[in-house]
This record gives sequence, C-alpha cells and structure tokens, in this order.
Amino acid sequence: MLDIAFAKPALPESGALVLPLAEEDLGGGLVGEWDRLLGGSLARGLAAAEFKGRKGQVVTLFAPGGGLSRLVLVGLGKREALDAGGAEAAGGHAVAALGKEGIASIDARAIGGWAGAPADIALGAALRAWRFDRYRTKEKPEDKPRLTGVKVLCDDPAAAKGEWASRRAVADGVFLTRELVSEPANILNPPEFADRLRKLEKLGVEVEVFGQKDLEKLGFGAMLCVSQGSAQPPRMVVMRWNGTDQKKRDSKPIAFIGKGVTFDTGGISIKPAGGMEDMKWDMAGAGVVSGLMMALAGRRAKVDVVGLVGLVENMPSGTATRPGDVVTSYSGQTIEVINTDAEGRLVLADVLSYCKKRFDPTFMVNLATLTGAIIVALGNEHAGLFSNDDDLARRIEEAGKSVGELAWRMPLGEAYDRQIRSDIADMKNVGGGRAGGSITAAQFLQRFVEGCPWAHLDIAGVAWGGKDQPTVPKGATAWGVRLLDRLVAEHHEGRSAQPLPAPAETEEAAVSGAGSASPAVLAEGTPGSEAPLPAPDLPARPAAEPAPAPRATRRPATRRPRR
Ligand SMILES: [Zn+2]
Repeated sequence: MLDIAFAKPALPESGALVLPLAEEDLGGGLVGEWDRLLGGSLARGLAAAEFKGRKGQVVTLFAPGGGLSRLVLVGLGKREALDAGGAEAAGGHAVAALGKEGIASIDARAIGGWAGAPADIALGAALRAWRFDRYRTKEKPEDKPRLTGVKVLCDDPAAAKGEWASRRAVADGVFLTRELVSEPANILNPPEFADRLRKLEKLGVEVEVFGQKDLEKLGFGAMLCVSQGSAQPPRMVVMRWNGTDQKKRDSKPIAFIGKGVTFDTGGISIKPAGGMEDMKWDMAGAGVVSGLMMALAGRRAKVDVVGLVGLVENMPSGTATRPGDVVTSYSGQTIEVINTDAEGRLVLADVLSYCKKRFDPTFMVNLATLTGAIIVALGNEHAGLFSNDDDLARRIEEAGKSVGELAWRMPLGEAYDRQIRSDIADMKNVGGGRAGGSITAAQFLQRFVEGCPWAHLDIAGVAWGGKDQPTVPKGATAWGVRLLDRLVAEHHEGRSAQPLPAPAETEEAAVSGAGSASPAVLAEGTPGSEAPLPAPDLPARPAAEPAPAPRATRRPATRRPRR
C-alpha cells in the first residue's frame, strides 16, 4: 500500500506535484497561487499544453521550477459533475502519470463539496498503485515503479486522515482479493487459500477451516465430487465478523458466499487448451468474500456477517467424477452431473445449504465466476445479478452504481427451472443447451437457498480486466468488494439497518414448482438437431481484450458516503 499522508498546502521541497483542476479552475486562484510559487511556469505550461481541464486529461510539465521534478495536471471535467468517483479517478490518473517518481504531493483543494474528497483522491491513488510482482525476479530497478508515498494537500488534514481510515481498510480488502486472484494455482491451492485466511484472525475475524473428513461427515456430496479428481484436498472456510454490541446481539447475520475453484480444467468435460491459464482465477468469488471480510473487520463495521468460501480444484483423473454420475448434496437433493465443467454450482449448492441451515441469515449473497454465458450476455461491463428478492437486488444495483461496480439484473423463472430436470435424479447440473446458460445456472443455485432472500452475482466477465482503468490496474479487479462493503454500510450498520421484506411469492413458487409434475412447456433441448454444446462454467478464454468498465454515474445521494 502506498504511504498516504495529509498535510496543509505548501510547496514541496522536491519530488512531483499533482494539480487536479476542473474546467472552471483554469483562471482561478489556485492556479494563480501555484503560478506565483513556480515563477510563472504553470501559466505558460497550461497554455503550451492546451490543458483545458477535461475529465481524464493529463499533462506533465517537467522541471517546472521551485525544486519540483515534475508537475502533473489532471483534468476533472465540469465542476458540477464532480463526485467521489471523479476524485478517485483523478488520484488514479495521477499515479499513472508519475512514472518513476518516488514521492508526490497532490493538491486536493480543487476537489471539494463533500467531506471525504481528499481521502477519495488518496483511495484512487492507492488502488491504482497496487502491483503484484512477487514472481518478477529479473526486473531492473529502473523499470520498477518507484512511487512509495503520496501526500495529499488539503485545508483540514486531521479530518481527511479520519476519513481515510475506513477507505484504507476497504483498500486493504481489495488488495487481499487482487492478490488471491492473481496467484497461480500451483501456489494457491485450497489448503494454502485457507491458511492465508487465518491472517484475518488478527483483525478479530473468527476463522473455521473444514477439511476433507469434516466435509465428508457433513455430507457435502456435491462439493466433494468436484475435488475428488484432484490431488489437492478441499477446504471450506467459515469466517465470522461480529461487529454489533455483544450484549444486545439478537439479530441474524448477513451472509456472503464465494465459489473458490482454485483451478478449473473442466474435469473430465475438459476445456480446450487455449486460454486455460485464466482458470486460475475461477476462485474470484471466494477471493471477493475474503477481501470483503477483511474490509469490514478492518473498518470495525457495526454488523454481524458471515463469509463462507468453498475451495476445490477441478481436475481430470482416474478418481474424477464422470459425466452421468449422480451425487447427493448436503441438502439431500440428488444431482446428475452431466457436465463436470459446470462445477461451481456444485460447490455453491452445498455451501449455500449449509450457510442457510447453520446461520439462518437475513440474506445470502453469493459471488462466482460461474458461466461464460454471462459474458456473452453482458460483456465485461456488468456482472449478472440474479435474485429472489426485489429489494435486495435494487440495493445491490444501487451500491454498485455508487462505487463504479455495475450489476445488471437477469431473470429467473419456472420455465428456466424446468430445463434442469433430470430423468434420473432431482436435477441435472446444466440445462438442455447453450441458451440461457447463466440463468439455468442461477436456477440451480436457487434450489439450495430454501426461500432465504438471496442474490447471485455472476462475475465471470468482471473479475479480471484486460487493460488499466483509472483505479483498477490490468488483471484482478476485486470487483464486488467495494460494492458489498457499500451495501453493508448503506443498509446494515447500526441504526440504519433496514430489514428486508419476506421474499417474493413468485420466486418461492419457482422453487417448489421445480419438483412438481407441472407439464413441460419447454422441451429439454432439441435432440438430434445439433450436437449438444458444453455449457462450461467458463469458456477457456472469457475475454481476450475486455473493454474497460465505464465509470458509473454517481448519484448525489451517494456522494458523501457514511462510513
Ligand atoms: Zn468449470
């Protein structure tokens, strides 16, 4: 993490200065003040570079005087449209423009209108500066980024420091997720993943680890059929953060569940070789839940929350599950495994049922890089959101917009549910063909939530980015940590906690109707018309070059987040 400090404005003795400016600021007092300190070079530089303050415009002036090595101008766009996301982006752009500088000062005074503005710039800078370079041993020192610290100049450094504490905790959570997702699968296998989560105990998180024998005893037949082909044993980790007053605790926890397939070959339904290396991040859902728990504990969130991750490796071998095998899940429901590459839902099925039975949570939100079909539907701009609860779904969508992590609600319904009927078991693990593959996957999960308010986020298209974005460097995005942290902060902490209404009747009907003998309106596939295409959890290469996710339009209501 970048060293972040806050100080009163003053000319730095050395290093770089970053000056974010809105379009309206160019002739203003701030520019005049720095221009005087720098002997007129700022005004000349602004004119020569045709800097207009447009959003995202970045201009660097070298050796501008006053002992500075460089002056970076970052455009903020129109002042009235500026918000927390704009401030974060400015911090991110600044870091990207600082090149080989070791330290830099950012004058945050042009960004204002809400209490946390200087801390928002710092957050953007920290998020952009993160880098995973554990395995680069030959990089020359001059090629490494050297930025170690950023000093944010503002009128009230003490207040900014206070605002920074909670953001720093969230950044720490994001970094844990990015690190877990970036690690290769030979290092981050299920036991190693579980071991790393032990470090959350230092923050006060209770961490329970379940091994092969424990899971066998519990009857996790769905999850264990995924790991049985691998030399790596499975793990389930249950993390608990109890942030409410111990004496008054009578509320149910909220629950987050993550798919953690540390490597997905597809199993016997093996994936094509091209791009299979991407399947190291088929554990991104579990990575996000882990980072979220770190963020909530780190900022001492006043909420009781459980985070559960199911960790397995999906390999083909003589002991692997065969297509056509029937397994019995923790819930007692039987599953015909048609495609061993649709394994994430098998893992989640048992963890969701277990979570519901043990904790009876207010709601369950699961995250999973579940289907390649969601990338076909939504590209890399939105995660797929499926829910049996309209209020929960709306809150997730809104929280996502306020932090720039977008989710788009997809349908559920009985007609889709019928597509996962099996001739031999209670259900099969894929639908009849490629059509609606993300939805039939969600229907499968819904059969294991037993009426609990629930949302499923299919993050296959957003967990990994193909290019740099202002606050998210190329690679693991940690999409979801900030969204869910915001969801908790807005709706589930302290006096602002708002209970969710009971789940909608219609969705209940969809669950119960699944097992009933209602007439089959949709035929299960179209035999003979086309060779059945596999409906893998993920295509081998989900996105060669994902487009950068657009910054969400931020709403005034969320400009000044309560933390
Ligand atoms: Zn798979």
